[in-house]
Amino acid sequence: MCGIVGYVGSKDAYPILLGGLSVLEYRGYDSAGIALVNGKGLEIHKDKGKVDHLRSITHDVAGRGCTTGIAHTRWATHGAPSKHNAHPHTDQHDRIALVHNGIIENYSLLKEKMLKEGIKFRSETDTEVLAQLIGKYYEKDLAAAVRRALLEVDGTFGIAVIAHDRPGVLIGARRGSPLVVGVAEGELFLASDASAVVAHTKDVIYLKDNNLIELTPEGFDTTTLDNKKISPEIHTIEWSVDALAKGGFDHFMLKEIFEQPETIYNAMRGRLLVSEGVARLDGLNLVLPELRGIRRLVLVACGTSWHAALVGEYMIEEIAGIPVEVEYASEFRYRNPIIEPDTLIFVISQSGETADTLAALREASYKGATVLGICNVVGSSIARETHGGVYLHAGPEIGVASTKAFTSQLTVLALLTLLLGRMRRISNSDGIAVAKALEAIPKQVRKILRQNDTIREIAKIYAKHNNFLYLGRSYNFPVALEGALKLKEISYVHAEGYPAAEMKHGPIALIDQDMPSVVLAIKDSIYDKVISNIQEVKARGGSVIAVATEGDREIEKHARHVIYIPKIIPMLSPLLSVIPLQLLAYHIAAQRGCEIDQPRNLAKSVTVE
Ligand code: GLU
Repeated sequence: MCGIVGYVGSKDAYPILLGGLSVLEYRGYDSAGIALVNGKGLEIHKDKGKVDHLRSITHDVAGRGCTTGIAHTRWATHGAPSKHNAHPHTDQHDRIALVHNGIIENYSLLKEKMLKEGIKFRSETDTEVLAQLIGKYYEKDLAAAVRRALLEVDGTFGIAVIAHDRPGVLIGARRGSPLVVGVAEGELFLASDASAVVAHTKDVIYLKDNNLIELTPEGFDTTTLDNKKISPEIHTIEWSVDALAKGGFDHFMLKEIFEQPETIYNAMRGRLLVSEGVARLDGLNLVLPELRGIRRLVLVACGTSWHAALVGEYMIEEIAGIPVEVEYASEFRYRNPIIEPDTLIFVISQSGETADTLAALREASYKGATVLGICNVVGSSIARETHGGVYLHAGPEIGVASTKAFTSQLTVLALLTLLLGRMRRISNSDGIAVAKALEAIPKQVRKILRQNDTIREIAKIYAKHNNFLYLGRSYNFPVALEGALKLKEISYVHAEGYPAAEMKHGPIALIDQDMPSVVLAIKDSIYDKVISNIQEVKARGGSVIAVATEGDREIEKHARHVIYIPKIIPMLSPLLSVIPLQLLAYHIAAQRGCEIDQPRNLAKSVTVE
């Protein structure tokens, strides 16, 4: 995920490109860059850091009257954030410049081939491979060169391309990653999101997958990648700029909840080998004998990541048979943990900058442990300081209350479980069953999201309550904790998560008609026990909102409201059962008029102890 802007027309491109980047900065922010055709060739400025930094090193470019250009704000997937890895990328002779959103999956094969041909590379990115390929094919017709290069690449792309000797020509193409064309009199715009062009025009073309568009100040020419002419439809935007950045959702948090089918898929893409029933996690940088030799795992995290770790503990112990401990990073770092040579440590953090988790990582490394990371932000401190790890590839998470990063963490932990489990206890056919269940998750999440309106109605009924209890057992105990945390974070309502059976050891004293319970009553081996816990709540006048498995009619006799999730193997049920709880928290907070994306007292990346 990243921000792309392109311009061709008669105005000075620089302020238009930089203005567009600022609007798109929510999509990626680790580096930024710009390329312009300046009459002598290509002029490129790029660096690590935010758009404001790019602006500060380029203000003398404004007013020079370059009227064709492209710009990018990066969210790194291949290669750490750095000046060299920042976009735009060029071919070795700086004849063409390219910005890219997405992943070129066969980049290493293509790169190897081009290295043998003597082509010189300047970055570690997958994107540069595409730039070099276009440069190799470019003679006079830029669109033809782009088309030819794109036929050789696998993966996803939204791109904008310019050439040193073609002022007034801008090419866009896409597969998988979004690209929008802004159409105005005598000028055209390209952007990965309409919010970046809406200040200039409301007429847009949403470019379709596998289409390429050639833009000149006079107009545009659209073809498929295999060069068949098409006439795209022009739409008129009716949303405000603010609503556009949020993709039409009222808040980033809701947008991120709805992104989960895609982000869960991104976390497993290229890693889940369904037909073999295994997972590949090359980033761990561990060889098979090392992985087989592990006798104990310690998962260290804070907040929502700590809840993901708890689910990981249940998964790994059951499927792989390896003892797992889950530690709060803030505790781990200050108590002298026992680390033996066959202990493997995972630190988990969305931002990769969480201060306590980082300190725990340093403490464990100091004691000689192999420490691996699970994080979202590429090139973050945790990513740099660990021996290896797994990226979530969930795209920037803007809402302070984590949603999509949590389900991506669960996905990665499920992959890890599969990898370790297949080396130890589980058969090929059991591995295939888990892999198939995991593969089906994005579609099942989509189905749950369709109940958004029902969940909003339930939220309206309970929005004025000031205390909630969240109950779950086994795999869904950590989900109860996470559901309660979401509600606390964004609605400032007191909520407690408990293992359902623990309720009778204390919290049951709180239950009355003013304290509803949200109960995870998934059909698994302890379903009946959960039903008994629901009875205990009801007997004390408490209302129950249940999250249950599709087809379970019995539950309707016990709970006042039921939200159904599709059937799923217990190990993966948290990936589904958490979705209604995220939506419930969101809608209760919305009803209470809370500042959902920036809740009071909280920060997105907790870089203090
Ligand atoms: N895969 C590209 C890179 O790592 C593009 C990332 C992006 O979408 O920002 O540079």
